[in-house]
Amino acid sequence: MKKNIQIEFHTNKSYFYFGTLISILTMLPQLIFSPNPTHSLFLSITLVLLIVIPKFSKILFSIFIIFINLSNIVIGHIALHWGYALADIKPRIEVAFLSPVYETKEYLSHYVDYRDYALGVFTFFVLFLLFKFLRHFTHSYKVFRMIGAGVFILILLSVTLFINPLREFEPFSVPCEICTVIEDKEKIDHILKTRAEFIAHLVIPKANAKNQLYDKIIIIMGESVNKNHMAIYGYSSPTTPFMSSLQGSKNFYLFNAIAPTNQTRYSIPIDLTEANVHYYENRYIHSGSLLTHFKANGYDTYWISNQGRAGKNDSTITSMASEANGTFFANLNYLDASLDEVLLEYLEKQPLNSKKEMYLLHLMGSHSDYVNRYNKQTALFNPAKNVVEEYDNTIYYTDYVVSRIFDHFKGKKLLLVYLSDHGENINLENNGHGFLPPYKDEYMVPFVIYTNVKNRRLDELSKDNKKGYFNLENLSSMIRYVSGISNHKNLSYSHDVMAVEPANIVDFEKLEMFN
Ligand SMILES: [Zn+2]
Repeated sequence: MKKNIQIEFHTNKSYFYFGTLISILTMLPQLIFSPNPTHSLFLSITLVLLIVIPKFSKILFSIFIIFINLSNIVIGHIALHWGYALADIKPRIEVAFLSPVYETKEYLSHYVDYRDYALGVFTFFVLFLLFKFLRHFTHSYKVFRMIGAGVFILILLSVTLFINPLREFEPFSVPCEICTVIEDKEKIDHILKTRAEFIAHLVIPKANAKNQLYDKIIIIMGESVNKNHMAIYGYSSPTTPFMSSLQGSKNFYLFNAIAPTNQTRYSIPIDLTEANVHYYENRYIHSGSLLTHFKANGYDTYWISNQGRAGKNDSTITSMASEANGTFFANLNYLDASLDEVLLEYLEKQPLNSKKEMYLLHLMGSHSDYVNRYNKQTALFNPAKNVVEEYDNTIYYTDYVVSRIFDHFKGKKLLLVYLSDHGENINLENNGHGFLPPYKDEYMVPFVIYTNVKNRRLDELSKDNKKGYFNLENLSSMIRYVSGISNHKNLSYSHDVMAVEPANIVDFEKLEMFN
């Protein structure tokens, strides 16, 4: 017996070493990125399994090696760009799957770099070794075959006795995580259907017409604007010449506010409906957006967007757009998105009338890639020397777009609101939003209102804002209140914000600044 083992060991040396080499190379990336000792222990046990498996099954070995190598690419990418130690894999997969296709493309072009390519080449190399191994290496294990199968079953049983690796441990949980995300998508479709039925039967009482001050309500929804890069909020570069020119006038109100989430697809519904950070789904389903409220009060409502026409994945936003009397999407495809000026061309084509109208203008604003979001000829930094200057150019350009929208409606009884869906992390090395855990910068958004009609409710709001910053989860109530179509101010001073998805609620005050 002992002699047999020795003979088997010696005759299969090269088979053993080559198989072990492939196993180690396969586990190496995840061992390097491992977020904690428990996870490292789990990965080490997996490595032992990999070394044992080829003793009794080349097919099973190949399946494991291929699967783990493919998961290396996903996990490695997240670890390199978002920090594996902090990030949970599922929300990241969700961002990739539930964002519209165009966002995914832009995501890939922005967040895939030489490190991912290097990992790709490494993975290819390991799979090539596996191919060589399968073709050119054979073994004559008999005793080891029994021992290997025994050890495999033993480890498998003892591991699954304590944990469910298919649910709890990467890389084996990755397929489950992808499935959950797809299930979530089906859930979203159900939500939209239920909501459409609710809105169809919704009756909103009309407010007293004498309280209604405005003919034109313009809500400009910015994108990824960090207010700390705006001169009106104290930034050192003159990024907001137009809004700065209004500052100090009694018609201009500058508020201190935070965004309720760091993701577009949750922040826009929360901003515009009764949904809030703690009660997202049920309230989103069972409330009309601002557009429905203004429509009920005799306004013609328009949703005008320079973001790509929503695909099936960001239907929460199109669901609200469909409440408007008129919609205009400037782009089918995000990658070809024109500058936000395209919305002005559309607006300026519409004859200006004195009807009661409400416009929701959804800008591309400061969405990455920044360099595609402003006019190079008229840029503040020309040429921009780095990514921060590019970002500042987007803020400067948006200020110009706001000025043009303002000019268009100037003579009318006007309420103009400018805010952003969420903020942005920005420094010379890194940028973006939707981090987990998030940074304060992702919630630090502008919230400004211009009125050319004396409005004591706005003065009141301004006083309220001195008590603490507003959480824009109640934006819809605030706008209805100041425009006179409702008497319920319903402010939110809550510090709770959503991080990436409704299940994660964090205290804004406890977050760190990005820089
Ligand atoms: Zn956004």
